[in-house]
Amino acid sequence: MLLRKVLLRGASASRLLISNKSPPASLLPLASGCTRFFSSSTQSEGPNDGFVAGQEGGDEQPAATITVDRSGLYHPPEHSHEPTTESELVKHLKGIIKFRGGPISVAEYMEEVLTNPKFGFYINRDVFGAEGDFITSPEVSQMFGEMIGVWVMCLWEQMGQPKKVNLVELGPGRGTLMADLLRGTAKFKSFTDSMHIHMVECSPVLQKLQHQNLKCEKVCNADENGEKSSVTSITGSPVTWYSSLEQVPSGSPTIILAHEFYDALPIHQFQRSSRGWSEKMVDVGEDSKLRFVLSPQPTPATLYLMKRCKWATEKEVESLKQIEICPKAIDLTHTIAQRISSDGGGALIIDYGLNGVISDSLQAIRKHKFVSILDDPGSADLSAYVDFPSLKHTAEEASGEGEAPFWEGPDELAPVGMGTRYLAMAIVNKKQGTPVPFQ
Ligand code: SAH
Repeated sequence: MLLRKVLLRGASASRLLISNKSPPASLLPLASGCTRFFSSSTQSEGPNDGFVAGQEGGDEQPAATITVDRSGLYHPPEHSHEPTTESELVKHLKGIIKFRGGPISVAEYMEEVLTNPKFGFYINRDVFGAEGDFITSPEVSQMFGEMIGVWVMCLWEQMGQPKKVNLVELGPGRGTLMADLLRGTAKFKSFTDSMHIHMVECSPVLQKLQHQNLKCEKVCNADENGEKSSVTSITGSPVTWYSSLEQVPSGSPTIILAHEFYDALPIHQFQRSSRGWSEKMVDVGEDSKLRFVLSPQPTPATLYLMKRCKWATEKEVESLKQIEICPKAIDLTHTIAQRISSDGGGALIIDYGLNGVISDSLQAIRKHKFVSILDDPGSADLSAYVDFPSLKHTAEEASGEGEAPFWEGPDELAPVGMGTRYLAMAIVNKKQGTPVPFQ
């Protein structure tokens, strides 16, 4: 938390750096979609590049040198057999752009970079801690997981101490938060006996690490749905792994925890242009490098942009030159609110974000340093501020009769030193009353 905060202080400077590296020219609309893969460097006016005829005469000077003017000819991309330093992920991204016949959204780029099943940033390694790329609150102090444990127990009390609760963690990282939560509550048998732990994690490497850190002694066996289950020796509670929330069984009260999960969800970026709002896309430039461009026509994400703008004041939108939206966060919050509404329980979402429209927050961090977003994708974390008002409006809309009301921790309630970007929000079933500490 502390280290992440120190990094955050430099965030605006780094974003400036990133935009400096992308000159305005690279953000111009695509002139012609189909020619941009052909390298102009194959055109050459130099005499050595001409076709040389009549050289059979040993040392004799050629009778005539004919230079072919290739400038009007079709130039296919250069085929180099030199070993390339391009990563597999970069090749994959370029492949998508090439075969799609056009650029991809920043959201698609972010999703591929973070969670591509073969090459994604989170997929094959442990990225946390001093040796990794960034550090998070549960990794700084065990008190973090213990405090979340107190919150979960308080909610469980308010829920009337149900005998079976699905305790779900989204994106558990190393599993440290859950391990500390369980250790901290282990003495309260009726609480731990009711807990069925569900870990939603896309990374096989992190799933394994979570299995170790939760001291799950039994070997994971995939059930008929392909889900892996085990039992944690910390409390004896069953633990199951999934890759998405939809796979977690419903029908029992559910408590959902999401710490620094939402900030990894893919965001779309829109930029104000002469045509109105245009989506920022990732394309391959003529130099064969990834670059940002603006979409010349409306994109599907425009629907979410319109929705987001309706939740903001006109003045708020007018003041912005760029807007970030996260349809995945909206859809996920809808699923969470509906589940809490039908099964009871609550959700605690803690993340870096704002209580307002997000303009330009996407950042890349490698080895605790800010880097450019397009630089060696897959080797740096990408994260964006969480748009808390969007989550609030989504939860309110999904709650229908008001079954899942929403509370948000206002900035002034944030403990001293936590900063004003590190926010918490709870969504609970209305029948259970207001959760601590949102009263
Ligand atoms: N909550 C942990 C880790 C935060 S990093 C902590 O605070 O330390 C984000 C976590 O979410 C990682 O475990 C990552 O592998 C996981 N993750 C990211 N995107 C995901 C997705 N779409 N589905 C499932 N897990 C995801």
